[in-house]
Amino acid sequence: MIQIKPIAADRLPALLQRMPKAELHMHIEGSLEPELMFALAKRNGLSVPYPDVESLRQAYVFNNLQEFLDIYHQGTLVLRTEQDFYDMTWAYLKRAAADNVRHTEIFFDTQTHTGHGLNTDVVINGLHRACVDAQQQLGLSASLILCFLRHLSEVEAFEALEQALPLRDKLVGIGLASSELGHPPEKFAKVFAKARALGFRLVAHAGEEGPPAYIWSALDILKVERIDHGVQAMKDPALVARLRQDKIPLTVCPRSNLKLRVFPTLAQHNLGAMLEAGLMATVNSDDPAYFGGYMNDNFTQTFAALGLTAQQAYQLACNSFEASFIDASAKQIFQNQLIETFETFE
Ligand SMILES: [Zn+2]
Repeated sequence: MIQIKPIAADRLPALLQRMPKAELHMHIEGSLEPELMFALAKRNGLSVPYPDVESLRQAYVFNNLQEFLDIYHQGTLVLRTEQDFYDMTWAYLKRAAADNVRHTEIFFDTQTHTGHGLNTDVVINGLHRACVDAQQQLGLSASLILCFLRHLSEVEAFEALEQALPLRDKLVGIGLASSELGHPPEKFAKVFAKARALGFRLVAHAGEEGPPAYIWSALDILKVERIDHGVQAMKDPALVARLRQDKIPLTVCPRSNLKLRVFPTLAQHNLGAMLEAGLMATVNSDDPAYFGGYMNDNFTQTFAALGLTAQQAYQLACNSFEASFIDASAKQIFQNQLIETFETFE
């Protein structure tokens, strides 16, 4: 473990901005800003059920995950063409690059869009083309993780997987998202076994609103490599020991947890406690357009609220590369850049 020299609190935001980092938990449909939503609606001859951008943004107040999912689904209705998916993804990638995100693994789903009559290839080809352009034009590497919607059936997840297989080369992994409570990971045991046999990397949302038992079953039944959120793990000491021992990454999303009332305030968030418990936590934005913050907003606000240190900033950024699905040599390059940033920061 590299020892990082202490940095004054007022210099931390600049350091958090400058440090290279990876984002591992961001749903592309959740990056659709109201301005772009209105522009896409206009282009497609559709209407948004709000008079203007400001009144739409003001509707982004939620009491729980389900209230968010309802309005989020409404927003996806403006996405109709491959170019729409490209434009949405490109907007996110430019924003991420501005926050010094060097690598991102983007969540998306196809079931929302096939439910609106679109074909799977419209979604995946639009997203993938933006990822290719990001590497060439922004120096940002980006890959795609297809998430099944857990409020739908396992049979429907199998259909989504089947439809995506002709585009297998454009995907790195499979995830599990949407309404957690009442939809435990084991509901998707068979389709995750199939995805594993096909060579996909596996992740799942667990322990956001759901109990520690969902994290256990994501690990032991779905056999995922990362847990998305996982903040409820801290309620179960045996689970904390397991996560620490097996170095299971947790993709924590502080502003999401605040906006969906998983924690009443950022000062009560358990990110600092997770790091102190030796867990491989990372910081991510989840659905930045809806939760009012991209990567660096999540870092700076959480660090300010919890009084976290430069050493912890280094740890979180280092974890983000370590937890990613890039190969060992790419990890080493990013981690060397990270060390250099900390050594040269004044
Ligand atoms: Zn999420």
